[in-house]
Amino acid sequence: MSEPTLSKDPVTAPQRTRISCPGCGRNDYVSWPAGQDTFHWKCFNCHKQFELHRKRAH
Ligand SMILES: [Zn+2]
Repeated sequence: MSEPTLSKDPVTAPQRTRISCPGCGRNDYVSWPAGQDTFHWKCFNCHKQFELHRKRAH
């Protein structure tokens, strides 16, 4: 299964990234800029805020 290739610059274009809430485990998709290692996110479910860390892809 292959996803459609993004035509935008992969370095700067926000990516739809699947995250899970460290507090309640809720999954969500966020627009996480590709060049950014952390993402400040507020959970819509438990209303806590987190500094999420990206896993290195390579
Ligand atoms: Zn939560």
